[in-house]
Formats: sequence, structure tokens, C-alpha cells
Amino acid sequence: MSGRMDGKVALVTGGSSGIGRATAIAFAKEGGKVVIAARRVPEGEETVRQIVEAGGEATFVQTDVTQALEVQTLVDRTLERYGRLDCAFNNAGSGKPGKLIELAEADWEQEMAVNLKSVWLCLKYEIPAMLRSGKGAIVNMSSQGGILGVPNYGAYAAAKGGVAALTRAAAAEYAANGIRINAVSPGAVETELWANAPAGMLEQVATGIPLQRVGQPNDIAEAVLWLCSAAAGFVTGQNLAIDGGYTTSN
Ligand code: NDP
Repeated sequence: MSGRMDGKVALVTGGSSGIGRATAIAFAKEGGKVVIAARRVPEGEETVRQIVEAGGEATFVQTDVTQALEVQTLVDRTLERYGRLDCAFNNAGSGKPGKLIELAEADWEQEMAVNLKSVWLCLKYEIPAMLRSGKGAIVNMSSQGGILGVPNYGAYAAAKGGVAALTRAAAAEYAANGIRINAVSPGAVETELWANAPAGMLEQVATGIPLQRVGQPNDIAEAVLWLCSAAAGFVTGQNLAIDGGYTTSN
């Protein structure tokens, strides 16, 4: 396998399903060596299996991204195995609905931990690894929910909006060190995240999207690949909406 990621080492959190799995596979198809992080072992190993079966190189490291020690170990294991870190997609996250006045304090803290603190922890350990080689590219997972006012997802929205702000600050802090840091904000993408949505919900959502369809994991993977590639060498601190035109028309 060879291409835009030849010789590069990429880390993908939340690589056990959905957008993370699609992006890990896309990195590997382009010649990258990929480290996949998530909590579910069989699903993480399945992503590795698909990559290896297609002739690529990948490793799974079981990781809870809300735990500092586990994220530190993840980056250490990446360096031990492949000797460097060139790209990271800090994608792991989840959203639980709940009206703001009904949320328990623990629910708020969980949304912040899995969607925002996790991204900071990843940056905290990935950036020193990239400083060693004097370059790197990081993409953080934000969301359309962090841009628009979405009812019933206030904690998730606040965390994802925080990711965009954290991305801008981190980009400004490390640009002079050759590290580019961007975010992506997908609209509705057909993944396990929608597994509990009522039947027909995604089809209904699609009718309100200017491009008349919901996103697929590969739509996001291709954008992340580009942001990590040399082709985006002058792009940093951005939050790229990938939503079929939804945020620009709402
Ligand atoms: P999935 O549910 O398929 O993927 C979520 C991934 O995050 C899984 O691999 C899961 O792995 C991982 N994850 C969750 N919590 C943790 C944790 N504590 N530690 C490590 N990994 C964790 O959904 P998507 O692919 O859709 O979601 C990926 C990202 O995209 C999320 O951040 C989501 O908020 C964001 N997003 C999704 C949109 C959509 O419509 N699908 C829209 C906008 C943003 P595991 O359970 O094995 O730990």
C-alpha cells in the first residue's frame, strides 16, 4: 500500500467503529502505519484485521481516552512500536441527550470528559512526540453541534464547541514548532452514534441537508486525510464543517 501517507505514523482514537475506523483504513490505504485506540477490544482488533488483510500495517492499543495514564501509555506504545508520530486524529467521543435542567452533574462531567478533556489529554501527550521530529499534523473531532444551537444536547454541544476553541489555541501555541492542528465538524454521519435514533430519523434529517443526504464515514475520513497531508501544509487552527452545506444554510 502506498500513497499520501507513505512512511507516516498515524494515531486514531475511537478507531473501533464509525468515522474512526473509516479514517484508520483510509490512512493505511495511503501507506500510513496506524495505531488504533478505543475501549472495545474485539472491535478495535477488527479494524486492525481489515487493514492487515488489505496489506496495510496497524496496531490496536486498548485505551480509555478520559484517563491520562492510558493516553500517555498509548503515545508511548506508538513511539516504542514505530519510533515516531506524524499524524493524530483525536476522534473518540459520544453524545447523550438530556435537557439542561434535568442533567445530573455526573452526566455533564462525563460529556466533558469523553468529548473535551480527552482531546486535551491527547494533545498533551501527542505534541511532545511531534516536537521530537519538529513537525506533525493533528485533527480534533468537533461537531456541527458545537456550531449550531441544538436542543437536548447542551453538554455535548458545549464540549464540542470547546474542542474548536482548544484547537485554535493549540494551533497558535505550536505553529512555530511546525505542528498544524485543525478540527472537523461533521453534520449527521451514518454510524453507531445514531443506533438508538427512531426509525426513519436519518432519512428525515437528510431532507433538510442542502446536498440531500447524510454523511458517510468516508466523507469525513477523506477530509481528515487531506488535513493531515502535505497538501494542507498552510492550513492550521481551522474548524472544517463537513455537513452537506447544513451550517451555511441554517
Ligand atoms: P461511533 O459510536 O461509531 O464511534 C465512537 C468511537 O469513540 C468508538 O470507536 C468508541 O470506541 C470511541 N470512544 C467513545 N468513548 C471512548 C473512550 N472513553 N475512550 C476511547 N474511545 C472511546 O460514532 P462516530 O464514528 O459517529 O463518532 C466519532 C466521533 O464523531 C465522535 O466524537 C462523535 O461525537 C463525532 N461526531 C459524529 C457525528 C455523527 O453524526 N455520527 C456528527 C458529529 C460529530 P469504544 O466504544 O470501543 O471505546
